[in-house]
Parts: sequence; C-alpha cells; structure tokens
Amino acid sequence: MATQPELEHRKKTFGWAARDTSGVLSPFNFSRRETGDKDVALKVLYCGVCHTDLAMITNKWGSSIYPLVPGHEIVGVVTEVGSKVEKFKIGDNVGVGYLVDSCRSCQNCDDNLENYCPDFIITSGAKYIDGTTTYGGYSDSMIVEERFVISIPDGLPLDAAAPLLCAGITVYSPLKYYGLDKPGLKIGVVGLGGLGHMAVKFAKALGAYVTVISTSPNKKKEAIEHLGADSFLISRDQDQMQAALGTLDGIVDTVSAIHPLLPLIGLLKSHGKLVMVGVPEKPLELPVFPLLVGRKTIGGSLVGGLKETEEMLDFAAKHNVKPDIEVIPIDYVNTAMERLLKADVKYRFVIDIGNTLKQSS
Ligand code: NAP
Ligand code: ZN
Repeated sequence: MATQPELEHRKKTFGWAARDTSGVLSPFNFSRRETGDKDVALKVLYCGVCHTDLAMITNKWGSSIYPLVPGHEIVGVVTEVGSKVEKFKIGDNVGVGYLVDSCRSCQNCDDNLENYCPDFIITSGAKYIDGTTTYGGYSDSMIVEERFVISIPDGLPLDAAAPLLCAGITVYSPLKYYGLDKPGLKIGVVGLGGLGHMAVKFAKALGAYVTVISTSPNKKKEAIEHLGADSFLISRDQDQMQAALGTLDGIVDTVSAIHPLLPLIGLLKSHGKLVMVGVPEKPLELPVFPLLVGRKTIGGSLVGGLKETEEMLDFAAKHNVKPDIEVIPIDYVNTAMERLLKADVKYRFVIDIGNTLKQSS
C-alpha cells in the first residue's frame, strides 16, 4: 500500500486538510478508491462545520490522524454508481454523515444502529478496514458504500440540509430514544450552538415547551423571537437557575467544554433525564446523590443510524425544521474555526464546496 495520500488510490481528489495539531487547514491533494460495485460517487456541494471537526483537527480527543480532511455533514450530487447500487442514480441529491462503514453483522448493525457498531468507521480521520485513510467532506468528491448514503428529500434546501446529517440527527435521536418526544413535555437545551439550536427546533416541532440554558445572554432575544424557544436561562445566573429548579422532564446537553452538571440535574423533575451529546475534552464531575433523590437518569447518545437519519430528514422536510446557517467560501474556513471556538456563529457554518473549492484556492 502506498503511503502517499495522493498515491493511496487511483482517483485524484482535492480538499483542505489540517497537517498537525495547530488545526490550520490548507489545500491538499489526495486520492480516493475507484467506485466499487456497491459504491456511490458524489460531487460534494456543501459541507457543514461541526465542533467535532474543530476537535479533530486540533487532536483534542487524541485519536486524530494527519493529514486530516474534516467534514461529516456532506451534501452532494451523485456522479457515478456501482453496478450493484439499487437506491441511487446519477443526478440524485444525497448526503453523507458521521459514518462511512460498520461491520454490518453485529446486533446493532442488524438493528439499523450502525452508530453503535463497535467497528464503525467515521467519515474523517479514521482508517478503512484495508488500512487506507478516511477523508471527509471538505473535498471535491466522496466515494461511499450505498448503505451509508442518504437521500435528501425534496423540500430541503441542499445547503441547509447539510447540518441535519450530524447536528440534526444527534439531537433528534436522543429526543426519540429517551422518550422526550411527547407533546407537552418540558425540555431543556444546554448550549445554543449548532446542535443546540437544532435541538430547540426539533423539540418545538415535537410539541415541547423548550427552555434554553446558555452562557450567552446575547442569544436570548433571538432564541425566543426567532428560534421559537419558550424560555431562556443564563446558566451562570444563580437566581434564574434557582427559580427553575425541578421544572424540566428532560435536558439535551450539547456543550463542548467542561461545565458543572449539578445545576442541570437540579433543573430536572423527579424521573427526569439528562442526555449528554456534547463532548468535553476531560471527564465531568458526577454528583451522585442528587441523581438518587428523584430517580434521575444521565445518558448519552451518538449521532444516529442510517434509517433514523432518513426518518429525521423526512420529519425535517415535513415540519420545515431547518438549521440557521452562514454559508462561507472554503477560504474562510480557518476564520470560521476561530469563531466556532468563541461560540460566535448563528448557528452553523456551511462551506459552499461546489462553488468555492478550486485547485488554485
Ligand atoms: P458549537 O456550535 O460550538 O456549540 C456549543 C455550544 O456550547 C456553544 O454555542 C455554547 O453555547 C456552549 N459553550 C461553549 N463553551 C462553553 C463553556 N465553556 N461553558 C458552557 N457552555 C459553553 O458546537 P456543536 O457543533 O453544536 O457541537 C457541540 C458538541 O457536541 C461538541 O463537543 C461536539 O464535538 C459534540 N458532538 C457530539 C455528537 C454526538 O454524536 N454526540 C455529534 C456532533 C457533535 P452558549 O453560548 O449558548 O452557552
Ligand atoms: Zn458533527
């Protein structure tokens, strides 16, 4: 096997990659495998910028492989299909999310929970079973096995569809799994970023009363008037947090940084559920006694399976649930990462790959 990225396979590909833990992205020539029997090739049009991309390019979780082409909120158009592909044809609008493969034979894969397969392969910065590298969607094309390609329903704009493939499914899935999808429930959303604003929109569409719990007072007006949240708590305001004790049935915590759990557990009613989806880089302190009093649950959730992702996209199209996006050219991506680190984005950057990713850029 060739070790040079541009020689690893035969199909020349161009994207932007981080070369080291500085996380700075720059133009990068590499290669992808040729379209296999069950593969779908797509020209990438849009790719969302997830906080996980930022964590990966700076090796915050210690697992990054460089050069690293990030991007797992990918929307594109099919350019080629293998002879055994059944679901897609050239010209279809499709998406690729956080996963590009799994073992396909374990119980979780059988149950359409590829996201919980112990051997799943993530779209960016991992290794395929043959030892070659997975490069993500900050690139001009993708080759992905049919099972891991998702059809984009009519009615969803292609740029706004991109963040649904990670941010959207990551909050939709736990609302469903943990029974937080019943109309009339009181749902809290911690952190109003890419995932958080989608959690507000999905929870509202499911009929919940939604409270945002945020460190950013300047997000309040828009959260209520524009995103449709019903109330807004400043997590650092003791009086506000005290007044809201014991009011929530469930909380989706999307915070990417270390933060205290005790105040959030306090917001839950008896039997309430706190679901962690954000990934702080170090372990959080878990106060046990407040969990016992009131029989509260803390759980986690990781993106979603392919079938549920399709279901989520259909739900989003039907209920007009769309992310608020700032579309950027690829040249802006390093500035976008700096702004993401400062929680300065409303609420998801989406890179216009189709129009701005050029060899000369
Ligand atoms: P994001 O857009 O940066 O949003 C994170 C939000 O967390 C910020 O907007 C901010 O909201 C809040 N926050 C940031 N720093 C904070 C701090 N020091 N203390 C308290 N709150 C803080 O990120 P994202 O793309 O939504 O991703 C969020 C997290 O989910 C990341 O850790 C990412 O890696 C992870 N993730 C997990 C999955 C999964 O499958 N579980 C999937 C995708 C992403 P406020 O300004 O409102 O406080
Ligand atoms: Zn993501």
